[in-house]
Amino acid sequence: MIPVNEPLLDGNEKKYLAECIDTGWISSEGPFVERFETEFAARIGRKHGIAVCNGTAAIDAAVEALGIGPGDEVILPTFTIISCVLQIVRSGAKPVFVDADPRTWNMDVTQIECKITSRTKAIMVVHIYGLPVDMDPVLELAERYELKIIEDAAEAIGQTYRGRPCGSFGEISTFSFYPNKHITTGEGGMILTDDDDIAEACRSLRNLCFQPDRRFFHERLGWNLRMTNLQAAVGLAQLERLDEFLERKRSMGKLYTAALCDLDSLVLPLMRTEFAENLYWVYAVVISESSPLSVDHVRSELASYGVGTRPAFFPLHAQPVLASDGMTVKGEYKVSEYLCDRCFYLPSGLALTSEKIEHVADRLREIIER
Ligand SMILES: *Cc1c(COP(=O)(O)O)cnc(C)c1O
Repeated sequence: MIPVNEPLLDGNEKKYLAECIDTGWISSEGPFVERFETEFAARIGRKHGIAVCNGTAAIDAAVEALGIGPGDEVILPTFTIISCVLQIVRSGAKPVFVDADPRTWNMDVTQIECKITSRTKAIMVVHIYGLPVDMDPVLELAERYELKIIEDAAEAIGQTYRGRPCGSFGEISTFSFYPNKHITTGEGGMILTDDDDIAEACRSLRNLCFQPDRRFFHERLGWNLRMTNLQAAVGLAQLERLDEFLERKRSMGKLYTAALCDLDSLVLPLMRTEFAENLYWVYAVVISESSPLSVDHVRSELASYGVGTRPAFFPLHAQPVLASDGMTVKGEYKVSEYLCDRCFYLPSGLALTSEKIEHVADRLREIIER
């Protein structure tokens, strides 16, 4: 069995976890949390890091910290995970979706400007699958229309755009450390910002909006989104190896591409754009329109060989939970629908060996050529 993801935990994880147990520091009060925040923020080149319990919580707090609420609109890609839209909808604001770019599968930034209205408050950019969003046009629009940028860099830890780290662009940026991300804490997330007030708001929202000088007195509704010392211990050990992990991911992607590039039935991820080398957070493939094969067929054949896969995102604009009238702004999203129909991803975890990649590629070739 080759699972779709298997993390690599053979650095200092055990040692730091043992330190937590030996010292009794297991809650969010333990010393690894601040160390992880400081070192992660430094790695991405930002002033403040606020560790939270998962990447979805990081987005929730980011949206709330920017004061997004009833009457506001937030522009974001439709081809992404549900996490991006939850707090926008819960806050009473309206998501306004943008279709994907057929080359990179990221949000098509040329479609943003025509969706900006007097109600638009923020643009949420999400780097998808391994290539960065084209940030320059987004930064230019944000400045011209005075909009905030929320940057979801969950899939782009360590990726860069024109040499600048992903997660260093937004007023506020968010990360996830789920086990399929480039570094993991089991469950976990991080908010980064350079803005002192936003950082303070996020710290407060993360901790039930307790007040330092009047603990059980509350002037705002918060959440308990705290990360434990145990998670931060694992995160710190993982962060020590980020560069090695990124190199590994890139070489895994190249192996897949070398093994599959002669198959006409598949469209493979771009190796690079003018902004970055692909980091292959996951190795996703698209079944060409000319091929009679369906994603379901190929995935179930791979499953019968013990190869785990995942379908591409089901676009947000078509989610049943967002279908009631007035919840979203209607539009056309042909590329995202096409990706939803024809794209899926192969085992991509850091523990995957070259032999296993060859094996997966061989099975996929067999299924296609049959
Ligand atoms: C994984 C992921 C999230 C959610 O993170 P969790 O830690 O699973 O809550 C959010 N956005 C993107 C783009 C992701 O890939």
